[in-house]
Amino acid sequence: MQTSQSLFSRAKIHIPGGVNSPVRAFKAVGGTPPFITKADGPYIFDADNKRYIDYVQSWGPMVLGHNHPSIRQAVIDSAENGLSFGAPTELEVQMAEKVSELVPSMEMLRMVNSGTEATMSAIRLARGFTNRDKILKFEGCYHGHADALLVKAGSGALTFGVPSSPGIPADFAKHTLTMEYNNLESVDQAFAEYPEDIACIIVEPVAGNMNCIPPVDGFLQGLRDLCDQYGAVLIFDEVMTGFRVALGGAQQKYAIKPDLTCLGKVIGGGMPVGAFGGRTEIMEMLAPLGPVYQAGTLSGNPVAMAAGLASLEQIQQQGLYQKLTKNTATLAEGFKALAQKHGIPMSVNYAGSMFGLFFTDIEKVTNYQQAINCNTEQFNLFYHGMLEHGVYMAPASYEAGFMSAAHTDEVIQQTLDIADKVLANVAQA
Ligand code: PMP
Repeated sequence: MQTSQSLFSRAKIHIPGGVNSPVRAFKAVGGTPPFITKADGPYIFDADNKRYIDYVQSWGPMVLGHNHPSIRQAVIDSAENGLSFGAPTELEVQMAEKVSELVPSMEMLRMVNSGTEATMSAIRLARGFTNRDKILKFEGCYHGHADALLVKAGSGALTFGVPSSPGIPADFAKHTLTMEYNNLESVDQAFAEYPEDIACIIVEPVAGNMNCIPPVDGFLQGLRDLCDQYGAVLIFDEVMTGFRVALGGAQQKYAIKPDLTCLGKVIGGGMPVGAFGGRTEIMEMLAPLGPVYQAGTLSGNPVAMAAGLASLEQIQQQGLYQKLTKNTATLAEGFKALAQKHGIPMSVNYAGSMFGLFFTDIEKVTNYQQAINCNTEQFNLFYHGMLEHGVYMAPASYEAGFMSAAHTDEVIQQTLDIADKVLANVAQA
């Protein structure tokens, strides 16, 4: 038996599903997930010593590729001074200054330990600031697993939300309105129905949890305008897009200024970190300055701050984002051209260094219903073919892919050569 297989069997005894986050279990695509032992640049290596070109990149944070020497050294240096103090440090000040410099809408910010904490706290703050209860989110966007955010649309467009997981009281979900992504009209209607009740809109400015779906022209600006008109707080969840679709995140790429921003992943350089921040007037509502409570024993952890700062330092290199964007386009368009060559309908989306492949004949996928109606059978065949040949992609058709600065032209070409073979097989299946 292979090592990953035996580890997976052992894992399932004491860990639900054998994993500490559900998507890792390969439920959508079937089979055994490779257990990873190490990673370097564009590659990850599994317990059977197989090397893969990695387009998951820890679900986004490794913009520079895995195990970057400066980040590794920053972690080692910081760890020599102790792992956690539960008291303020200069590193936290440097981090706040750096994030604020790179994402100017974040005039003040607070560090947390995950994206889930960032969005949960930002929502509480928006509610506290506006003194309103309802929140508006979009179908197919994921904002972590806080109760109010694990909510799907009710049966009619403007019905109360219903929990998307057991364990969430219907009463918690009823304040969450879920609208269609890229459909401004539905948001307009929600505000018309509840002009004084909606505390905030939370949105992934490029959706990365229903594969990759960029905003259509005018969508983000429309959200900004509606928030201004009705006095609601606009929250950009840039946990995935922050420092990824552009140095200043999606808000820089699309030139829209949100009131609050949630960050995660990238600012930890691979360590468990998140942050939320925005307009001073709103952030001053937070304890200890104001009445909205939020806290964290390990928040602003020195080792995580050191890793994050080293990462942010490196991604400021001249030309890095142009290169990432160009390479992502080459890869995504390359996949599409190969699919065409083999007569397989495929549509691709990409923004900055995020990309998504859709096995569909829809020319441009713009919302959740289109994304989930793609050919999952073809995707799964493609997925396992790529994996077998040493390319590790997100193990579900509704997840985005990520390019890193360590993926060279050669690595990208190797990926496309493998895809050529795999798509030929998919076409024959
Ligand atoms: N928001 C977005 C946009 C995300 O993609 C994720 C995680 N993939 C989260 C929030 C939650 O972050 P975490 O898993 O760190 O809690």
